[in-house]
Amino acid sequence: MTLEHTTVHRREIAPGVLVYEGEHGMPNAVALIGSERLVVVDSLFTPRHAEVMMADVRTVTDLPVSALVNTHFHGDHTLGNGVIPTDRIIAAAHVKQRLETRGAEYLDLLCGIRPDLEPEIENVAWVLPTEEIDGPLDLDLGGLTAQLRPVRGAAHTEADLYVLVPEHRVLIASDLIFNGVLPVARDSDLPGLRAALHALDQLDVDVVVPGHGRVGGRELIAQQLAVLEDIEAAVYRAAADGCDLTEAAVAAVATLLHADERIAPYVTHFGRQVA
Ligand SMILES: [Zn+2]
Repeated sequence: MTLEHTTVHRREIAPGVLVYEGEHGMPNAVALIGSERLVVVDSLFTPRHAEVMMADVRTVTDLPVSALVNTHFHGDHTLGNGVIPTDRIIAAAHVKQRLETRGAEYLDLLCGIRPDLEPEIENVAWVLPTEEIDGPLDLDLGGLTAQLRPVRGAAHTEADLYVLVPEHRVLIASDLIFNGVLPVARDSDLPGLRAALHALDQLDVDVVVPGHGRVGGRELIAQQLAVLEDIEAAVYRAAADGCDLTEAAVAAVATLLHADERIAPYVTHFGRQVA
């Protein structure tokens, strides 16, 4: 269904697994509805988006939200935190400190990136995680399990976590995977991201919910690895040929949304390898 006046669409990808899929590269969030408990994974870019999501969740279930999971600190996954009615917000270690020390700076950055959303987010107070985990945590929702798995080491950010729903072989990868969109890499450790993707590729999953872009099959994992490899190869080739590294890198991923404006950290990283 399409939710009026937003760019969020609900897709039920398995019983009790509702994906709120953003359009045009906007973030995704997920509601996991068991027979006894409801858990929300990420809270979208603005309180308004989170309100629309929660209103839609309420058409499906009256269960209280037993926890909100923040997959990482980025505002497009956390700025709706205050709207999700729960006092338990779980994140990987260091997310709270990151938001406390750099939240204001990060909000300025987001307003610059999305000036159209500035009126909605410029005065949002960050609602911080109440609980940080540095190891696996399983939440039993009643017939459905949310398996929270922090990534070892930095990847998309310095502290990411992904969520597995083993009953339906679903991986909620958040921003470890983007589909059809070049990942934001400003806060990324690219070797760490590659290692994390190789680890995801070992998981027994059939369905992958990316942080941005459409839900897909497990091929999204290999596809994300290929994006890194294509940029790397293009930068190496351009360096060997004396061509412009940025132009070559953008050309390698030209089909992806935001390739132009997000390529710089990739060129810096891979360019350093050939310098
Ligand atoms: Zn992110």
